[in-house]
Amino acid sequence: MPAKFWVDLHIHTALSPCGSLEMGAPEIVSAARKAGVDVIGIADHNTCDNFPAVYKASEGNPVVLPCIETQSAEDIHTLCVFPDFETAQLYKGWLWQKMRPIKNDVDYFGYQVVLDDCNNILREEETLLIQGTGYEVDQIVSKVHSIGGLAVLAHVDRPSFSYPVALGPIPEDYPADAFELSCRINSAQAAGWREKYPGRIFIRSSDSHTLDTISRGNCTKMTLEEPTFEEIKKALRNEDGRRVSWPWG
Ligand SMILES: [Zn+2]
Ligand SMILES: [Zn+2]
Repeated sequence: MPAKFWVDLHIHTALSPCGSLEMGAPEIVSAARKAGVDVIGIADHNTCDNFPAVYKASEGNPVVLPCIETQSAEDIHTLCVFPDFETAQLYKGWLWQKMRPIKNDVDYFGYQVVLDDCNNILREEETLLIQGTGYEVDQIVSKVHSIGGLAVLAHVDRPSFSYPVALGPIPEDYPADAFELSCRINSAQAAGWREKYPGRIFIRSSDSHTLDTISRGNCTKMTLEEPTFEEIKKALRNEDGRRVSWPWG
């Protein structure tokens, strides 16, 4: 019997230079539980190396999915969602073939730390994670699909790092699985996006860089048989009674 689940596929950890150092695995898990969010995506910039920590800390509550917020050559962010860590790592290997060896400037961008589930620092990522990789957005979407992942155009309403800002209106047949709207916009603005792209599935994510933004009000309600990647995939396709609720009521 399908039920409602709260899904937030876009949460950064302390590994993203812009992510607060408070974004450790136990803290994210506890914030999601407190907020009643059932599924979270760990979505750092161009990497997924803190997924194992959050996955272990969660003990299945919430369900944690490996995601990578990929920055394309055109500086477009795509939220890439994977069925498992192995697939995410496979994608990361492909992506990093076109990452430039720019060193992170900690004083300017912030720390990039890989943690374990108890917040022990395993290593610092030296390569600057917020950089446009050598792949174009079309190549990224196509690669993600070829290995069984979902490609969501991230925060399409934002004035930076979004598809419309970089390339203009999104083609009607663009092969993205959904468009993400940021939780910063109001319901009237959100309605405008839905009018502009009828027939498209929209999700809302918190894009959390701090703990206080993890909340039901910043994410998306989905009707699923169970909180899994496969069910979310069906919901994004509006298949078999699985569906995404319009995030603005
Ligand atoms: Zn982004
Ligand atoms: Zn983000």
